[in-house]
Amino acid sequence: MRASTRRLRVALAAATAISIGAAAPVAAHPERAGDPDRIVARTAAADPATITICLQPLGKHDRKLLAPLARGITEVYGFTVTTLAARELPAEAWYEPRKRWRADKLLDELAADVVPDSGCQAVVGVTSDDISVAKIDHARRQQDGTHEIDWGIFGLAYLDSQVAVISSHRLSRGKARRGKVARRLVKVAIHELGHTFGLDHREGEVNATCTMNDAGGTIRTVDAELGTICADERDHIERHLGVTLPVVTAPDWTFVETGKRKATKTKAAKATKATKAAAGGEEAKAP
Ligand SMILES: [Zn+2]
Repeated sequence: MRASTRRLRVALAAATAISIGAAAPVAAHPERAGDPDRIVARTAAADPATITICLQPLGKHDRKLLAPLARGITEVYGFTVTTLAARELPAEAWYEPRKRWRADKLLDELAADVVPDSGCQAVVGVTSDDISVAKIDHARRQQDGTHEIDWGIFGLAYLDSQVAVISSHRLSRGKARRGKVARRLVKVAIHELGHTFGLDHREGEVNATCTMNDAGGTIRTVDAELGTICADERDHIERHLGVTLPVVTAPDWTFVETGKRKATKTKAAKATKATKAAAGGEEAKAP
């Protein structure tokens, strides 16, 4: 979960409970339970492109963010990404007091109506409408018995599931240009997908090379991250999905935003061409 201000303890607690209940995916295959190492060894070589992540535009959304989002997920995880036909936001998710949409209700609908028979490892709802979750405010509960508040978020996912939802609403603040919003959206998607693969938040200081930082609620945490997954996160996801993920130390954000590789790659390609020409007995022509 990415909160816009502080950690969402209630949702995290709920997610942790789900985690405990589903802590051992191996248990679903009891015949394999005795030798988990062999399972890893047997399946770790699979290509991540065999995994399909589906983007599900929901309600109001910026169509121009969908392609960068898809490229970003492929850049970092190596997955195949497809975009489904847009859907309306379900009326039951509307939270009238704050005039926004409850993210958990959106996840429930995606799980019930979109995931079955979709062939998607995970469905990521994408909207530019504002989304929120209910959060228990312990201080207010002690003061006046009121304990539930509505909390705006960047994204939400159930732990070890097939559903996530992300919103660009809070990522566009400060008149951020679309490219910057796209980067932020990719980082939030990478993070929420991490939850769907069973990863919980990291403890301690923000590690910019990792994705499972608790945003601590601020966009600054998202901006500080490199948009990569670090080694222990990669290990977990590889075991969870039985694939070998690419090692990406710096996503090509130019490619993510525009679909074109940045200049350094072009220069490298030119150099390779020149080398080939030289090997073929030709001289590279002087300008
Ligand atoms: Zn999170």
